[in-house]
Amino acid sequence: MPDPGTEQSCLFCRIVAGEIPATIVASDDSCIAFRDITPQAPLHVLVVPRLHLPDVAALAARAPGVLADVVALASKVAASEADGQFRLIFNTGARSGQSVFHVHAHVIGGAELGWSPA
Ligand code: AMP
Repeated sequence: MPDPGTEQSCLFCRIVAGEIPATIVASDDSCIAFRDITPQAPLHVLVVPRLHLPDVAALAARAPGVLADVVALASKVAASEADGQFRLIFNTGARSGQSVFHVHAHVIGGAELGWSPA
């Protein structure tokens, strides 16, 4: 089985490795959190596992503990940067809006959020 650790061509692997700059707001042993380059809300941070897997379904199957780490870091960021309330979005597949195929959670908050999935 191929090593799922990193992929040289993956944008988020390169941010994790420090090869591409990002505004990192938090990190732990398994994940980093950095500001989305095109924020959609006052708080819009991406929580990215260091492990390269394509999406949240693969993460849940391969490393469920890291999925729990993603949620914990998202909660920590929302507590420090907003009021602790947040929406967590995992786009999964191109038709859902996924454009970077390295699993990441969008942490959205800092405002009253409407519901407009399309
Ligand atoms: P998704 O469309 O769900 O795969 O989300 C990918 C997100 O990555 C988008 O919200 C982009 O704005 C964001 N993004 C792309 N490139 C960068 C970058 N270099 N630094 C920070 N965020 C980025």
